[in-house]
Amino acid sequence: MSKQTNKIFSKHGSSERLQKAQEIASNPSAYKVCECCDSIVGSSSVTCSNCHGYRFDKSQTRVVDQAIFLGTRKKTSVTASDLV
Ligand SMILES: [Zn+2]
Repeated sequence: MSKQTNKIFSKHGSSERLQKAQEIASNPSAYKVCECCDSIVGSSSVTCSNCHGYRFDKSQTRVVDQAIFLGTRKKTSVTASDLV
């Protein structure tokens, strides 16, 4: 039973994450990268929803780089719930 749950979670992950990454990469000014944990959060976020850090890198090249990294590499922490 627990195996089944796991499968659902991992199945959900990759394509959705890649799609999100593409969305971020095409509109980097709406996002920023947490300097503590490298999560991508919406530019209006005050603190990181993952680590609660408050230092962000808003440079668009950094956001695009990170989006591609998170979308193509193995699972790290994209705070998808924070991205609108
Ligand atoms: Zn963070």
